[in-house]
Amino acid sequence: MVKQQQMCWTKQGAHLFLHVRTQVLNDDLRESFERWHPAMKKTNVPIQEYKTMPMPYSHLALAQSCLSNLAVDDRNDFYLGALMPDIRYFTGRPRSEYHFSIEKLNIITKSITVSNAFVLGYGIHLLIDELWATDELRDEYKRLFPFFIRSKLNIRLLEAALEIACLAHYAVPIQLQIKGNALTRQLGVRESDALTSAVQSLQRYIDQRNLQTGLQMAEASGKYTLERLAQMRYLSNALEMSRFTRALVHLLIIPPSQRIYKRLVDGALARVGEVRLSNERKMNSVV
Ligand SMILES: [Zn+2]
Repeated sequence: MVKQQQMCWTKQGAHLFLHVRTQVLNDDLRESFERWHPAMKKTNVPIQEYKTMPMPYSHLALAQSCLSNLAVDDRNDFYLGALMPDIRYFTGRPRSEYHFSIEKLNIITKSITVSNAFVLGYGIHLLIDELWATDELRDEYKRLFPFFIRSKLNIRLLEAALEIACLAHYAVPIQLQIKGNALTRQLGVRESDALTSAVQSLQRYIDQRNLQTGLQMAEASGKYTLERLAQMRYLSNALEMSRFTRALVHLLIIPPSQRIYKRLVDGALARVGEVRLSNERKMNSVV
């Protein structure tokens, strides 16, 4: 964007920059931060879980597939809940402010009034991220690919493969309405800015259903590393430009991704009962 602009580095600044850059590349920046600032260690989620997670459209599609097995009266609230844990792309806050255990979600929602649909959507997202972060699931995902692709796959490409499969195969027919609630307020998500821009960008992604739109969102968030953006750009260009690539993707990428998709849906549904709903919350407050 501002490539020609001259930057003036001090020796110390350049050294610090390189140090941080290396750590970003090695995925261990968070670990260092936790060492420097022990207060950051708020969750007991292992550090490896902070590596990539399913992308926004994957979360929507996965939530939609869970929907038929859940008693949800307000779909808008459900989908907003399913997207909310990743609101950091719009608020700029750390991931740990919105990602926590189901146990913590139950504690937070115990004393506030928020619809079951929203809490269920939120819970499904947290469960899917947990499942995705397990080595077993990702190893299995890799094994499902033919050997000549498997050797080149890294975690980030698995995430993109799942997103491509979801974009291709699962339409999510929803018009999202911007609607805050007691939980979004508790999390400090402002309806007037973060929530509005999140809903508007996501709606565009839902309507257009292509990786290019996802890439624009990722770029705007400022939360993706240059390497990840470059990788996504490469993938989305290849998908758009070449019929051959699209055919290959359909042949080789979509089937393994759909099997993992099903594993994620089944896994989340198996545990969704852990999410505490409002009548239980009320009973609890009576006791
Ligand atoms: Zn997430």
